[in-house]
Amino acid sequence: MVASGVRVVFLDIDGVLNSERYLDDYPPDEDYAVRSIEWWRQMLDPDAVARLNRILDAADASVVVASTWRYSLDLKQLQFVLEGAGFTGQVIDSTDKNSRVPRGQLAKQWLRNHPEVDGFVIVDDQADQEPLLDRFVQTSWETGLQDEHVTRACELLALPIPQTSRAQSLDAPAATRVD
Ligand SMILES: [Mg+2]
Repeated sequence: MVASGVRVVFLDIDGVLNSERYLDDYPPDEDYAVRSIEWWRQMLDPDAVARLNRILDAADASVVVASTWRYSLDLKQLQFVLEGAGFTGQVIDSTDKNSRVPRGQLAKQWLRNHPEVDGFVIVDDQADQEPLLDRFVQTSWETGLQDEHVTRACELLALPIPQTSRAQSLDAPAATRVD
């Protein structure tokens, strides 16, 4: 039986769970080697992680990592590093690591492979989210995840998934179509 009622947040990390403002104030400790587990944890703003927790709690949602962090850390490491910054949710997957298509296409591809999911939102500071722009909350690198983004993400997570989010016919980017 396929579980239903699953909701996911496609999560970017840089510019969402950290920001220029945070890293200016709290740069990672120089005692830790770049890309060590502790270095990754120190790249996270605990206040932003707490806001993410609020989204996940309100919607009973889980995380699918869309960030480039998925290239450096596996799912267990992502979970561990996030928990080190106060994360109380679950990382259940990441988007494809081997595809270079825009992030909106990666999220759509993931949704097509997961029909059990019936609600989602994309939280990212990067806007290449076609064709899922109507489920996209854009943060900024300057300040990261803020309270207003939490409110909007919760609203979008409550909406049903539009059919076009999974439709095959929208897969090919317009630029590659030859008529
Ligand atoms: Mg980013």
